Parts: sequence; C-alpha cells; structure tokens
Amino acid sequence: MVDLHPSAEEAGLSARAAAIARSVVLPQAAAADGGAFPEAALRALAAEGLMAIKSPRAFGGAGSTQVAYVMALREVATACASTAVTMAVTNMTGEMIGLFGDTDQRERWLRPIAQGQMEAAAFALSEPSAGSDAASLVCKATRRDDGSYVLDGQKAWITSGDRAGVVLTMARTGEPGSGARGISAFLVDPRAPGFSVLRHESKMGLRGSSTVGLSLDGVVVPERDRLGPEGIGFRVAMTALDGGRCAIGAQAIGIASAALQTLVQGLGSRAGVDRAQNLQQMVDFRIADMATRLEAAWLLVLRAAQRKDANLPMTREAAMAKVFATEAAHFVCQRALELATAQGLQDDGRIARALRDVRVSRIYEGTSEVQRIVIARELLANAS
Ligand SMILES: Cc1cc2nc3c(=O)[nH]c(=O)nc-3n(C[C@H](O)[C@H](O)[C@H](O)COP(=O)(O)OP(=O)(O)OC[C@H]3O[C@@H](n4cnc5c(N)ncnc54)[C@H](O)[C@@H]3O)c2cc1C
Repeated sequence: MVDLHPSAEEAGLSARAAAIARSVVLPQAAAADGGAFPEAALRALAAEGLMAIKSPRAFGGAGSTQVAYVMALREVATACASTAVTMAVTNMTGEMIGLFGDTDQRERWLRPIAQGQMEAAAFALSEPSAGSDAASLVCKATRRDDGSYVLDGQKAWITSGDRAGVVLTMARTGEPGSGARGISAFLVDPRAPGFSVLRHESKMGLRGSSTVGLSLDGVVVPERDRLGPEGIGFRVAMTALDGGRCAIGAQAIGIASAALQTLVQGLGSRAGVDRAQNLQQMVDFRIADMATRLEAAWLLVLRAAQRKDANLPMTREAAMAKVFATEAAHFVCQRALELATAQGLQDDGRIARALRDVRVSRIYEGTSEVQRIVIARELLANAS
C-alpha cells in the first residue's frame, strides 16, 4: 500500500529542494546544457544538506528517507537534469559510505561530501568491457604484505569521475573469473599517484554532467580505505543500485514533467487559436495520457522508496519503477516534441533538451533490458 502523504520532514526537505531548483538550478540549466559543470547549483544543494540526504546527521547528512530523496531529486531534475544526476551519484556514494563504512571512513569521506567540501563523489563500477554484466569486471586489486592494495585497470563512463573528491571503486580481489564474490569496494582518493582521467565523453544530453573514463595504474589504496570486508563489493554495488534505480525513475519523471509543463503552457498561450474539434480532442487526449503515465510512474517510484525506508526487499520494485518511469518519461518527452512542433524542435528549448536528457535514464544504472531480466528472474524464482 502506498501512503501518498510524506511526513512533514520529507515535505520540508522537498520544498527546500524545489526552492533551490527555482532560484539557483533553473537559471543555470541552459549553461549546463551547453557543457558547463553546475558548480554553483551543487554548492547551494550541499548547503541545504541535499548532497547527502540519507546519510547520518552525525556525519553532516540530512538523515532523511528514500522518499524525501526521490521527492527532492525530482524537483531538481525538473529544473536541470545534469545537476540532478550529479546530485544522485554523490548521494548514492555517500549513502554507501554511511552504510558500509566505519567511523573513520565516514569522518574522512562522508562528512566532506555532506558538507559540500567536495564538489561531487563518484561510483566506478562499469568498465570498457563490463557494463550490464558488471560481475565480469577485471579491474584488479592486489593485496600487499602491509595490508594495502594496488589497483590496476580502467573504468568507463564514470559520472563526475574528474570532479569527485572520492571515487567508490569496485575491483577484483579474487581470482580472474571469480564472479560477483571476488569483488571488493575501495574508497579511492583521486589525488593518488597512478589515478588519471581518460576521455571526457561527449553526449547528446546531460551535457553539464561530466562523464569520463578513468585509468588506475598502480594506485595504492591503504587497507583502511577498503569499504567493508573483502568480497562484498558486488553487494555494495547492488545495494547502491537498488536505491539508485528508484532515484533514476524520479529523475526521469522530473525531466518529463518539465517538458509536459512547457507544452501545456505553450498550448495555453495559444488558447484562442481556432482548431478543428477533432484536432483539439486529439491534443487533449494526448496530454491526458502523458500526465497519467507520469503519475503512474511516480506511484511506482514512491512504492519502491517506501519499501526501502521500511527495510523491505525492493530489488524488483526498484527495477519496475525504473523501467516504467524512464520509458514513460521518454514517451512523454517525445509526445511533447510532436505536439509543440516547430517550437519544440528548437535545440535550446526545454522540450528538446528534455528529450536529449531523458534518453540516458533508460541506459545507466542498468538498461531497460536488464531491469526486465531482474523482474522476470524474481517472478520465475518465486513461481518454482
Ligand atoms: C551518461 C552515462 C553515465 C554513466 N555513469 C556511470 C557511473 O557513474 N558509474 C558507472 O559505473 N557506470 C556509469 N555508466 C555506465 C552504465 O551503467 C552502462 O552504460 C550500462 O550499465 C550499460 O552498459 P554498456 O554501456 O556497456 O552496454 P552493454 O552492457 O554492452 O549493453 C549493450 C546492449 O545490450 C543489452 N544487453 C546487455 N546484456 C543483455 C542481456 N543479458 N540480455 C538482453 N540484453 C542485454 C543492453 O540492454 C544494451 O541494450 C554511465 C553511462 C552513461 C551513458
């Protein structure tokens, strides 16, 4: 059962996010679309505790819920998708340090994230030949006699990899071919010798979010920066992605809401235009369907978020929320462009930007195909 009433604290946090989205994030969204990293917007979000929403208050986080997080992220995404994805990955990384880290790690890495002393944090799972099949990653972590590790390998498509103050990096401590069980998680300091940024990806959307390849060439990571025991890296990654997928659903809904809002305002301003009755009804039916799909998607996101807050299993619910919300959002952005016709096509317009920004939400943190595999696998396992 989905409770549609957020607590006063959740509503308050979301209202703060909405206020910053309007006053700081939106005014820089066009510049971000042009490729500018949204530094000022991220600073403003950090000042309100919005870069570590679910992290413990004792370490500078807002100590709030997944529901508050998805609500806040949706508000920011409505204003600027690039800012929202940077905020999302930073929150996700901080949350994992809060969950799996010890007091020393939380103090050294989580507090600076939460207090905005780091521009961003990054999560490095994907590799050039390990995307959907993340358990096949090959980046190697070799343990030395003094307990420290040496990391060698490459990471691909890492959000904020060149901006982050810490990069949560999954690497193989087991033998090659040891699968998910041979992976450990490390908190890598990007200032360490051997860490370097490879190519900056040029993308059709999310241009203000920095996406880079990373090279780890003999990077030494002290034992105290291994996150949790050896061998739990894949669990850390999957825990992150359960919450992350639900958040990407919220992000996509925010992006599409902006497109729908722009369309409806445009149609409203042309209210006096004499249209054939059947044409008017076609437009009315379409915008009704678009709004309905977004509402349905939001309920799935909220349900997954509430299950997470209640510590209930939510892998399937997060996958359902992500696949439905991101595909609904893409549908809405495409329809908005069709209905806005020439005005919608303007490259710097909000509708065109939304369509370019929203597409990747069906790819990162697990493609739509991967979400369907996750859902079907669980259904079939429960049936046998
Ligand atoms: C803008 C952007 C930001 C990103 N940020 C990050 C980040 O911060 N950290 C990070 O670790 N990664 C990040 N990624 C990587 C992202 O998670 C991967 O791109 C994604 O997991 C897909 O992997 P891939 O691109 O290698 O595609 P592949 O895995 O090669 O998939 C190619 C196609 O095959 C399909 N496919 C794959 N396996 C199956 C299967 N078993 N059954 C059916 N179909 C299948 C996929 O759905 C897809 O359509 C980012 C990607 C982008 C584009």
